[in-house]
Amino acid sequence: MGYSAAVELARQLIRVDTTNPSGNETRAARLIADRLRHLDVSVELHELSPGRESLIARHVGLRPGPALCLSGHLDTVPIGAVPWSRDPFAGEIDGDRLWGRGSTDMKGGIAAMVVAFERLSARNASAPVTLALTASEETGCQGAASIVDKIGAVGALVIAEPTSESAAISHKGVLWLRLRALGKAAHGSKPELGENAIDRLIAGLAAIRGVVLEATAHPVMGPVTANVGTIAGGVATNIVPDSCEATLDLRIVPGFDAREALRVIRSRVGYSINVEPILSLDAVESSAADPWLNSVVADANHVCGTHRSTGSAAFFTDASVLVPALGYPPVAIIGPGNPALAHQVDEWCSVGAIDRAVELYERLGLNWRPNVQFVNRIQES
Ligand SMILES: [Zn+2]
Repeated sequence: MGYSAAVELARQLIRVDTTNPSGNETRAARLIADRLRHLDVSVELHELSPGRESLIARHVGLRPGPALCLSGHLDTVPIGAVPWSRDPFAGEIDGDRLWGRGSTDMKGGIAAMVVAFERLSARNASAPVTLALTASEETGCQGAASIVDKIGAVGALVIAEPTSESAAISHKGVLWLRLRALGKAAHGSKPELGENAIDRLIAGLAAIRGVVLEATAHPVMGPVTANVGTIAGGVATNIVPDSCEATLDLRIVPGFDAREALRVIRSRVGYSINVEPILSLDAVESSAADPWLNSVVADANHVCGTHRSTGSAAFFTDASVLVPALGYPPVAIIGPGNPALAHQVDEWCSVGAIDRAVELYERLGLNWRPNVQFVNRIQES
């Protein structure tokens, strides 16, 4: 049975392993670049590091002004240690389900954006549309940061992260920390002669839990959260450990930003634990009153057949980097796939949702009216 162009492209992208680390996004970026070369669009590849390229493609249109920017990331998270019941890199389809790493997060969404962009170019859509596909989002938006000054004027941003086709207009920020406790080694039979670094770190983590619980939740984005992602310490059962290290993933909100979180955490854990930030990205917040965002919600309701309103995403996106650098355009995060299936074993995406996303992105491109006022605001600031 034949599938649509977007679904076939999503399968092709799944078959290109872009698990990050190490990413190797170049093969996926070039697969897309090769498709676009026969169109009347400009295509650029920008190297983050060897084998890791991001792609920018531009449809200029007849109407001058800032572009509608369609964006997504080419990398995926690793497949993990638990075995999959389906091959994560085969692009297998069973009924409405396309299986594979990245099917939901977010090769289904990328494929839909690429095909919508192709259609907009083929129809010679009047307004400018820019496609920006990034390397290395999953480890902290490094690809987006490396191309943001090359994207050009943007009036509104669409990010194709999985949202079950409902538009999110905000998301939390993130602060990743490395915590290191030092102690003093001693024989395991004489713990009173040593200082146990693991105990010290565990006490520090408990103190941070307290900080997180006390932080005020955001009315739309929800509460601050913390997850201990890794921990390592000690060398043998019969030695008091003199070192322990953990990494912590905090999801933060306006009112409790990275600077404030770091200040409170450092004061609470004291000097015995070294706290070092390893990633910090701000929350993203668009105005629910923005007319373009309201039109996105209306178009999504129309195309996806559901009545959904603007909400907030728990995960971070390239918008953390793109939105401030592009002068705070409104951002809609909307794409095919259930976010609960992202980063999971046996990830899959609805084939029908990918096809609906093509219709939605094409419609957003056709309806895009560059807002001259917005450009002026950037130039004045
Ligand atoms: Zn993603």
